[in-house]
Amino acid sequence: MESYKIQQHKYDVVVVGAGGAGLRATFGLAEKGLKAACLTKVFPTRSHTVAAQGGISAALGNMGEDDWRFHFYDTIKGSDWLGDQDAIEYMCREAIPAVIELEHYGVPFSRTAEGKIYQRPFGGMTTHYGKGTAQRTCAAADRTGHAILHTLYQQALAHKATFFIEYFAIDLIFDAEGVCRGVLALDMNEGTLHFFRGHAVVLATGGYGRVYFSATSAHTCTGDGGGMVLRAGLALQDMEFVQFHPTGIYGSGCLITEGVRGEGGYLTNANGERFMERYAPNAKDLASRDVVSRAMTIEIREGRGVGEHKDHIHLNLMHLGAEVIHERLPGIAESARIFAGVDVTKEPIPVLPTVHYNMGGIPTNYHGEVVQKRGDDVDAVVPGLFAVGEAACVSVHGANRLGSNSLLDLVVFGRAVANRCAEIIKPNAPHKDLPASVLDQALGRFDGLRHAKGELPTAKIRTDMQRTMQNDAAVFRTGESLREGCQKISQIYDSFQHVRVSDRSLVWNSDLTETLELSNLLAQAVATIYSAEQRTESRGAHAREDFPESDDVNWQKHTLAWVDEKGKARFDYRPVHMYTMTSDVDVVPPKKRVY
Ligand SMILES: Cc1cc2nc3c(=O)[nH]c(=O)nc-3n(C[C@H](O)[C@H](O)[C@H](O)COP(=O)(O)OP(=O)(O)OC[C@H]3O[C@@H](n4cnc5c(N)ncnc54)[C@H](O)[C@@H]3O)c2cc1C
Repeated sequence: MESYKIQQHKYDVVVVGAGGAGLRATFGLAEKGLKAACLTKVFPTRSHTVAAQGGISAALGNMGEDDWRFHFYDTIKGSDWLGDQDAIEYMCREAIPAVIELEHYGVPFSRTAEGKIYQRPFGGMTTHYGKGTAQRTCAAADRTGHAILHTLYQQALAHKATFFIEYFAIDLIFDAEGVCRGVLALDMNEGTLHFFRGHAVVLATGGYGRVYFSATSAHTCTGDGGGMVLRAGLALQDMEFVQFHPTGIYGSGCLITEGVRGEGGYLTNANGERFMERYAPNAKDLASRDVVSRAMTIEIREGRGVGEHKDHIHLNLMHLGAEVIHERLPGIAESARIFAGVDVTKEPIPVLPTVHYNMGGIPTNYHGEVVQKRGDDVDAVVPGLFAVGEAACVSVHGANRLGSNSLLDLVVFGRAVANRCAEIIKPNAPHKDLPASVLDQALGRFDGLRHAKGELPTAKIRTDMQRTMQNDAAVFRTGESLREGCQKISQIYDSFQHVRVSDRSLVWNSDLTETLELSNLLAQAVATIYSAEQRTESRGAHAREDFPESDDVNWQKHTLAWVDEKGKARFDYRPVHMYTMTSDVDVVPPKKRVY
């Protein structure tokens, strides 16, 4: 192995990722007097959070009656009773001060006539425990993520947090006692290697949507945090639950926000029928995402799709009028024009369910501390390691996330991480001495990939993986397609030993970083499809045709999946937290989920 010069940096806390979750954690840490470094592979304001359109949920009640307890109930029902109810209570209660805080930080929310934060209806959001429709999603037109991300970055700069921009985190570094001590990273611009020491490492690396062929998420959403966690021998949780958003633009996969249906848009099939009325008589087009995606897929399968190949659905918003579209949905009008060639004031948008969000991820408690099952302790904390945002699985979204609950999750738990670190870490505490060999394994792997001389280009293996996941772990799943998919994914995983990296340099070597990303994706492809194969029931986004009902007796539990270096998956389970934090709300017992 080539010998690498490593620069060492010492911080109280190292945050990996500068999306909404990473930035909220970073400036929270700085605000608490901790020395925080934030590493990010893309410029902070290019993180995927910037693309969030529809909004952030909080029961402010600005546009009609609302209560955080209704939000609590909706989130549990949305999760199909796989969400941890203590964490959901924490998030829904904290939502109100969290959004007001964002307003005070400077997020330019849209306004009502009286000057209050504008709120729109979103799927699965109700009042009075399922009876009315809640207007709960706070929006800055259809560019809410953009507004929030820029504001959070400004706050981080104001609090003098330190950024390492275009640094690629390669692996977590643990000591012999299993305490996380830092992270090894590549400065992509300079081509140098860096060891960031921290008393805690916070993984805020986002989702792994790019494990699929068609996804609304950015090409950078490669689940690097989850990959690092699996390599550290830790388990990921609930990886079988992948959300398909009902309205990705047909062809490009670019997202059309649920806010369109919140503002009154609706779906039609080839007969011009508003078919959602048949599937969800009350919520109709605003049923939760898994329900709408399945209905669309059934319409297409039964021959009622639109277009030449009858393979997609129409989203109509012509009736809203140019004025509403211009004021509330300007970004959508632009995306539809660019990616579908459609003038939304005159024609419907061609749409198709598209991979959008990963409910599964790195298991944590509501402080953001990573937890693992150790003997009888099902929630044992991994010392020195935190996870937050889409990379994490708290789990507040369970088997299906409600729209606008992710931006909320980022800020509520980003703040919780900062608070927890301030409780357990003393500023400027000395760092433990570590043997030089502590980096050997991570460096060895890095060097091996850098010099990989196989016959398969990274892009070929990636496409094979993405197509297999798209075909065999989609909106509807069967035992047969999953078994076949598992076999194929294992073969593709094995083929990675024959990967070829053509560029041997270290400066802006995108061939190398894409290969590192692919190795993270592959391990999570294994975790996802094998987890899906072993869960013999339907729940939330996981719809098995051979097991169409949910099975609370055997399966109301979180899946834990380990993937070893040979790509072999192993499973265990954690119970769902069926308890609340306080007596302000009652536990919601499972029942059949109808909208
Ligand atoms: C198109 C779209 C629209 C959406 N709209 C909404 C919405 O309206 N409301 C809502 O609630 N949710 C929405 N979501 C979901 C939500 O936006 C995301 O779940 C959320 O923004 C993820 O934030 P994050 O901070 O966890 O990660 P991201 O914003 O994805 O950021 C990840 C960060 O990690 C860094 N990183 C990753 N790997 C590495 C590495 N190896 N080394 C260094 N840095 C690394 C990246 O540079 C980046 O800064 C939407 C998602 C999409 C894709």
